[in-house]
Amino acid sequence: MIVLELAVPVPLNKTFYYLPPENLNPKNIVGKRVKAQFGKRTLTAYVISCLDVENTDDLKLKRIIEVEDNDSLITEETVEIANYISKNYVCSLGEALASMIPVSMKLPKRIPKNKIADGEEICENHILNAQQTNAVNLINKNLKKKIYNAFLLYGITASGKTEVYINAVECALKQNRSTIMLFPEISLTTQFVDIMTKRFGTNIGVWHSGISNVEKYSLFSKAKNGGIKIMIGARSAVFAPFENLGLIIVDEEHERAYKQDKKPSYDAREIAKQRGVYHNAVVVLGSATPSLESYKDAIENKLNLIELSERIHKRDLPEVKVLTSKNGTFQTGVLFSETIEAVSKALSRREQVIVFLNRRGYSPVIMCRKCGSVYQCPNCSISMVFHRNPDMLKCHYCGEIKNLSATCSKCKNKDMTVFGTGTQKVENELKKLFKNAKIFRLDGDTASSKGNYEKAYNGMKNEEYDILIGTQMIAKGFDFPRVSLVCVIDADTSLYLPDFKSVEKTFQLITQVAGRSGRGDMRGSVIVQTSHPQHYAIECAKNHDFVSFYKTEIEERKRLFYPPYCDLAKISIRNKEEKRAEEDSEKLFSFLESTAKICKLNLKLLGPVSAYIAKINNVYRKYIIIKGDRGNILELARLLEDFKQSSGTFIGIEIMPSDLI
Ligand code: ADP
Ligand code: ZN
Repeated sequence: MIVLELAVPVPLNKTFYYLPPENLNPKNIVGKRVKAQFGKRTLTAYVISCLDVENTDDLKLKRIIEVEDNDSLITEETVEIANYISKNYVCSLGEALASMIPVSMKLPKRIPKNKIADGEEICENHILNAQQTNAVNLINKNLKKKIYNAFLLYGITASGKTEVYINAVECALKQNRSTIMLFPEISLTTQFVDIMTKRFGTNIGVWHSGISNVEKYSLFSKAKNGGIKIMIGARSAVFAPFENLGLIIVDEEHERAYKQDKKPSYDAREIAKQRGVYHNAVVVLGSATPSLESYKDAIENKLNLIELSERIHKRDLPEVKVLTSKNGTFQTGVLFSETIEAVSKALSRREQVIVFLNRRGYSPVIMCRKCGSVYQCPNCSISMVFHRNPDMLKCHYCGEIKNLSATCSKCKNKDMTVFGTGTQKVENELKKLFKNAKIFRLDGDTASSKGNYEKAYNGMKNEEYDILIGTQMIAKGFDFPRVSLVCVIDADTSLYLPDFKSVEKTFQLITQVAGRSGRGDMRGSVIVQTSHPQHYAIECAKNHDFVSFYKTEIEERKRLFYPPYCDLAKISIRNKEEKRAEEDSEKLFSFLESTAKICKLNLKLLGPVSAYIAKINNVYRKYIIIKGDRGNILELARLLEDFKQSSGTFIGIEIMPSDLI
């Protein structure tokens, strides 16, 4: 009797057997998504094999309800990668498959006719400089040999990394092999789709969370059957099912967006390397501020280091001025007088300005004038943020909205005041100071409305805007040649967060945003407003000195025993009742401690501690941190199944988390 083996996206570490629909050839269902009754629910699952079994008397098998796909979506490689994810990030095969082949992806009702491809808009390539030529040669040599190799392309801002990527893509295309290009933000995808379409015509797919389920299906099948050759996208584009993959490029490889924060917490860079090995393909990780772990790998020859140490046309890196309010003059607003002067000069020369502040809203703190207590979200243990137009208080974690006439929850006083600075306040101040300037703000609030990314990008590119204000989404990648001034307001927002990566993140952000300045013919400059001018993250960013930063920071990691000197797992324990969350996290800690001891796992356990924001949306959050090597961590993580928590407690595990907050 023929049965189908299903991987079901539930947290159970096994596969399940079902009968095929009566009138279909079971062999033709393998690799497709199907609907099946699972307990009381109907779920979408993945058929991974078809077996002939003899004794089925005591197997009361259900029949699958419906086959969802016309064609098989799963290849041998898919199963291999899914198994890798399942093993290395502790999830079931079905859960792994669900992050590779979205359950929600939908077949179009009618199959659209293939559009005739537009004539390729041939765009002339730049003549590569010596460093770019060297980089391209190294990469393409490996492409041509068809052997796996992984590179770290460490190229300073505006050193022309894109051009190197494009030349490698061309080489892959010549061999009739496909390319995946990953970017950390949709905003950057826009810019590259623009560049790539000009070079390569309509051979390109764009994959990110914003596209529809039908579009996703169509892209997925085109990638699978060769209808497109290049997939540009965010993290999950790493799974684009090319069968003849030659090249995977991960731009801004240091970005934590490459790490999925929900289960399975895979790292797209790691998947890229796995797929590279499978296809004998070349992987290029690019950045002006490589992650400590990748740079360490490069020094230890686990990655091939390629450096681009000069800007295009040997342009100078921008001069960075660090200002602090102590040595500044008296100031009433957010912007120091020297900053205002610099903006004014740039505008009078008809140059563009970028103003960066990593905090959206108007003011992040609302305080009672009488008793001084901070107005917190009723559902979360964090201050609400004051927003203008329309005026309201907003929680950035649960979305709670209150009107402005908030009453102090401690003393019932109605006289509240706001403190601190967000992007809206900066926008307001700039609008007052520079009445004729065209100003655009791009942050989590404005970016949510469709088309605003494109508006910001095109508006800056076509010089319709004079000033672009924004959060981290404007900090990297953008190439606007008329930007000659970048202002960083309050560079310290991320410096003292209780996380082992906060210093690294601050250095990367400042270096990246500074790198937006002076990319064209004018010499660029940067102003950094900070209250910690002496901090090495800021000093090194000022001097454009990644290597010194690396040397200092890597010593800190070694001293404190943090990655890349150990591997990590973060276990979260959540419950709506504070007491339960506390009790369960204590119990779990003892369980882990004794299990590690019994199994002789050399691990260090920390905690349990409350998360940095101890309560979000009325759920209390605790953490236990495991330090050690990955093998031991995974062994312990797999035994987590044996722990019985109380009802209502959620326990999640993140392997190699990108932060501990
Ligand atoms: P990066 O990604 O390293 O910050 P980009 O790839 O955006 O830098 O390149 C910076 C600018 O230099 C872009 O406008 C690009 O078109 C231009 N450029 C790149 N390579 C060359 C070259 N060989 N000759 C002239 N201009 C170049
Ligand atoms: Zn809230």
